Amino acid sequence: MPPIDSGPLDKTGAVREDIRAIREKADGVKRRWPFHARIMDWLSDLLGETVRAGARVRLPESGPDMRGDGVSGHSRFTWPDVPLDLDSTLSLWVDLTDRSERVMGRDMSGMKRLFSGSAPENLFLIRSAPLPESRDLESACREHGCDPRAVRLLLRLALRPSLKRLAGDMAAEMTGDWPFGYCPLCGVPPSLARIDREGGGRRLYCPWCETAWSYPRRSCPFCGNHDHERMEYLFSETEEGLRLDLCRSCGQLLPTLEAGWPIGPVIPVLDEIPASHLILAIQAQA
Ligand SMILES: [Zn+2]
Ligand SMILES: [Zn+2]
Repeated sequence: MPPIDSGPLDKTGAVREDIRAIREKADGVKRRWPFHARIMDWLSDLLGETVRAGARVRLPESGPDMRGDGVSGHSRFTWPDVPLDLDSTLSLWVDLTDRSERVMGRDMSGMKRLFSGSAPENLFLIRSAPLPESRDLESACREHGCDPRAVRLLLRLALRPSLKRLAGDMAAEMTGDWPFGYCPLCGVPPSLARIDREGGGRRLYCPWCETAWSYPRRSCPFCGNHDHERMEYLFSETEEGLRLDLCRSCGQLLPTLEAGWPIGPVIPVLDEIPASHLILAIQAQA
């Protein structure tokens, strides 16, 4: 479906629905893992801001000549050329860092200085964040004394309105099969998988634009390995509904929400929290 401008009342309703889904997810995780309460409260508050900021996004034009075909292994866009609204991203960045400073009680002045350069410098830095091999963000973080992992997490949130808008605008063109291990819209590898029922298909989730796509259950999206003998599935007794898929060919882990995962539609930023805890639980068992 192409995006439909359905007027301010419907938009308000959609914002309310999105915020309700975020709260329900956060509450579900908190009920099951009370020790995640603080991080869930913090992230769900920030996610609410990303939903409200969605109305202000204006994406630059991207003609068909700028896009991959979305069929033969070329994702529609690739970083660093994904269209985004720099002004609204930076304005949300200021809001998110202010809120985090208040809620978490941490000095975030380094993060606030990170994007004090010119517009092209800021755009370059932001667009380098999803590229794992890029050293640009790491060196900027070192210069301003901030943790690159925290910066990437907040950047995912600051970019969320632009990327959700892009995904909505491109939805009508994103209908075919995508048998590849990276996002059909923006080209990055998944951070999370979900299996909805025993014997059912697997969906992979992009950590940046949150696009989901189907992928064979027993293949590794990172290296394409489909030798079952070289895949391992790791569980913890205390983390029912979650598992880690470990590929013995490339060594990559993929957290997977299994059939029975009780907590609503996937919101990667929130669902990754219990999944990351499973990694620690399994390391402790080893
Ligand atoms: Zn993506
Ligand atoms: Zn692999």
